[in-house]
Amino acid sequence: MVLDKEDGVPMLSVQPKGKQKGCAGCNRKIKDRYLLKALDKYWHEDCLKCACCDCRLGEVGSTLYTKANLILCRRDYLRLFGTTGNCAACSKLIPAFEMVMRARDNVYHLDCFACQLCNQRFCVGDKFFLKNNMILCQMDYEEGQLNGSFESQVQ
Ligand SMILES: [Zn+2]
Ligand SMILES: [Zn+2]
Ligand SMILES: [Zn+2]
Ligand SMILES: [Zn+2]
Repeated sequence: MVLDKEDGVPMLSVQPKGKQKGCAGCNRKIKDRYLLKALDKYWHEDCLKCACCDCRLGEVGSTLYTKANLILCRRDYLRLFGTTGNCAACSKLIPAFEMVMRARDNVYHLDCFACQLCNQRFCVGDKFFLKNNMILCQMDYEEGQLNGSFESQVQ
């Protein structure tokens, strides 16, 4: 997984001192022994939760992730906003939530995963070949082998 820019924010578990703090989640006073400090606000340990999976963020790590007004755990943040990498065919970024095809170290959009010579799409179980970083169907691969068109290119 690759992240454009980390949107991670550290959480601190602190013992309250002085005046009781109000919780940014439920707006009630925090009377617990420990409270969480994050985003310049104070939270009950129970109130700082991931907007997606509801996990208590203080328990899963010391960093929360925030984007588009959501507070998320790392897993959901990556799922929603992370990227899998660049598509080896069209070189655009692939968001993490998209299904991808993988071949060796390359990732592809599902739509981009086709023979780069004849555009044939592959179904599950179909044979494909990776040559000179191009995806090829069996026919084009064998044809290329026969007339030696791969040999002149550097692998
Ligand atoms: Zn609270
Ligand atoms: Zn989550
Ligand atoms: Zn692509
Ligand atoms: Zn082909």
